[in-house]
Amino acid sequence: MKRSKAAEAKVTSGSKVGTSLACPPPTLERPECEEATEKLDVSKLISESEDVDREVVFGGTDYGLVTMATTVRLPIDRYHRKVDLYNHFSVLADESECMQIDFECQDSDSEPSKCFRVTAEQINQRALARKHGKSLQRRKKGVPEVQAAEKCLAENSVAKAITAEQVFHQHGVCKSNRDDLRRFYHSEKLHKEQRTADLLNKKVYDQMASEERQFISCSADCNHQHRPKTPIMLIGTAGTSVGSRIGGHARRGGGKMRRNHCRYVTVGMTNEYNTSQTCSTCFLPIVHPRIRKFVKGTWKTVTNNGTSVCLNQDCPTYQAGTNSRNRDVQAAECIAMAGASLLLTGRTLPPFDNQHSQFNTVHFPTASSTGKR
Ligand SMILES: [Zn+2]
Repeated sequence: MKRSKAAEAKVTSGSKVGTSLACPPPTLERPECEEATEKLDVSKLISESEDVDREVVFGGTDYGLVTMATTVRLPIDRYHRKVDLYNHFSVLADESECMQIDFECQDSDSEPSKCFRVTAEQINQRALARKHGKSLQRRKKGVPEVQAAEKCLAENSVAKAITAEQVFHQHGVCKSNRDDLRRFYHSEKLHKEQRTADLLNKKVYDQMASEERQFISCSADCNHQHRPKTPIMLIGTAGTSVGSRIGGHARRGGGKMRRNHCRYVTVGMTNEYNTSQTCSTCFLPIVHPRIRKFVKGTWKTVTNNGTSVCLNQDCPTYQAGTNSRNRDVQAAECIAMAGASLLLTGRTLPPFDNQHSQFNTVHFPTASSTGKR
């Protein structure tokens, strides 16, 4: 989801996810937990996983309006590799330190991550939303009173009233049509259909959430493919665009899926600061390409906000010609990096750290840099 830097900082810094609930530290026996990443302690979960030869895999999720959720997986090996890349490309690092790092770019650095997407359209399709809508319309056709009542209400909307008399008149129209509509919409048959649709909806959300978790636990990108996995989900806190004014999209939201995940795995709500404005390979700022478009008879230059382009010539993606990435996938990778670095070292990776602002210095204690938690 595209957001400005200022908006991201505002939303994420004001986030109070998990502040009111004290969640016990997750263990291998009871991994289910939802907490702000800053307050999450996964040291026990990681040590227990290592004891029984399980591999910890992080999953980064970016919620949005058109694509409800974009998820990428980040095995711990890939995380360490990305930290090496950061150290190599960090412009703030001391030059002598950079020279000490024995670094060589690999082919895997420039490969885009595989992702799992959940869209509202997929959920509509699986939950038979169109079928239920058509069934309602068909049922309505057999009841002319309901059609007449709805037409009358559309023509006499209270929102269109200007004077007090008009308000009273239109309120009277609403009252006179009330019984017809109630008889139809609160009939036993419609209640049964609604109940069926609700149950199917719930089932579809559960299925999609399960597939998302399976994607993270999948062995495809891991070096140790035979080892069972312990997934830790890191989800951006900047919301699900449910209150967005952009029209034309089903507002299915991501909250239901998140609540489903935290019944089975550890969920860390992660600060999204700068995650959609940073390259996930070299950790330098990205740009959105500008394209020429023919709109209403004239050529216009518009920004393509759905694509992130890294223009750092030393970046492996630039050299491999894969520096144009999907914005949401890039953001999901960055969320995974931001959350994983905070969980493993107690410090957020500097490009995603907004703790230097005065607001956060007051409200959040500075993270300790004492190595692993
Ligand atoms: Zn880059």
